[in-house]
Amino acid sequence: MKSNRFGLIAVATVLSLALAGGVAAAQMVTQFQTVNAQVTQADAVAASHVSNIRIHVQLRQEALKGGNPAAWSLAPGTLDRLLGNSPPQSSPAIVTAPDTPTISFFPGRVTKGPGTVVVSAQSHSVFLNCAGDLCWGNPNPNTFLTNLGLSTFVHVLDQYAGSTANGRYTVGTAVNATFPIYAPANTLSQNDILQIVHASAVATGKLVGYGHIYHVFLPKGVDTCFDPSLGGGCYSPDNFSTFVFCAYHESVQFSDIGHVLYTVEPFQWPISSTNPGCSLPPGTPNGQVIDSTANALSHEFFETVSDPDPPNGFTVPLGPMSGFEIGDVCHGPFANLSLNGHSYAIQLEDSNTYEACVNSN
Ligand SMILES: [Zn+2]
Repeated sequence: MKSNRFGLIAVATVLSLALAGGVAAAQMVTQFQTVNAQVTQADAVAASHVSNIRIHVQLRQEALKGGNPAAWSLAPGTLDRLLGNSPPQSSPAIVTAPDTPTISFFPGRVTKGPGTVVVSAQSHSVFLNCAGDLCWGNPNPNTFLTNLGLSTFVHVLDQYAGSTANGRYTVGTAVNATFPIYAPANTLSQNDILQIVHASAVATGKLVGYGHIYHVFLPKGVDTCFDPSLGGGCYSPDNFSTFVFCAYHESVQFSDIGHVLYTVEPFQWPISSTNPGCSLPPGTPNGQVIDSTANALSHEFFETVSDPDPPNGFTVPLGPMSGFEIGDVCHGPFANLSLNGHSYAIQLEDSNTYEACVNSN
C-alpha cells in the first residue's frame, strides 16, 4: 500500500461481452467503490475511547472440547460477563413439555433479547495490507457478499429481521486499509483492530450505525488475539496452543463517530496438511481459500444481522446451546449452496421456522 490519502480512488466496472447472433451486448456484472485508509494517531485516540463493547466469537470446537481455558473465556455468557454485558432479560423460561414423545424440544430455538436487529445493511469489506485486494482469492469476498445478498439463503434472516424484502443486504464501499504489523509476532491486538475499523469508517465518509457492517480481512500469516482480560485467546493456526477461534463479530460505540458493527475475518488457513483448523478441506467449488473465507464470513454476517449487539438480539436462551447465535447452532458441517446461481461450500443457518439448519426460508 503506497497511497497515504483518503478518498475515492477507483470505481471498478467489470464488463462482460456476450455475443449472440452477431450482436454484442455489454452486461455490467459488478461495481464496487473503493477508498484508501491509513491508520493515524486520531484513530489510535478514538480506539482508546470506545464504550459498550459487545463481542461474539466463532470458537474452534476442538479448543473448547480440549478444555483450553482461553476458549472457555470467549464462550458466550462467560465473555458477556467479562465485558460487563448482562444476559438478555427475557420472561421466565417456560418450556412446555411436548404432548407426544415423537415431538422433541428443538435445542437450537433462538429468542430475542431487548436489542435490535439489522433489517437492511451495506457490507463494507476492509482489505488489510493488500495491494490489489485479491489476497483472499479472485474474485475477492465482495463477489460472495453480492451473491449472498441476492440469494434465497439470505432470506433465512427474514424471520429474525422482520422483513421479506429482496435486496436488503448489499455491498457498499470497499476499503484498502494500511496498518503496520511487525514481525516476528505478526499479531494484531483488539486495540489495533479498533484503530483499523475507525480509520475505515472515517474513510467511507462515516457510514455507521445499524445499516453498515464492516468486515476486516486479515492477510495470510497475521494472527489476532484478545486481551488478557478476556482470556487472551487467538486466531493463530501457527501456534496451536493459543488457537481457539475462527472469526468474530463485535459492536462498539466510538465517542466521535458513534455505533459501528464489524466482523473480523482472519485468513482461513489449515493448521497442517492433515488438520484444516478453521478452514474447509481442499476440493470445494471455488477452492479452499475462497470457500473457507466465505464460510467464516457468512457465519459472522448472519449473526451480525440477527444479533448485532451481543447478546441482546437472537440467541438460544437455555439448554446445551445456551448463548449460541444462529450461526453457532449450525457450525461445522458445510454444504454446496447455490447463491444467485454460484456454488459455494458454506455452513447452513439456524431457522426457528423449520426447527433445523436450513439453506432457505
Ligand atoms: Zn457464531
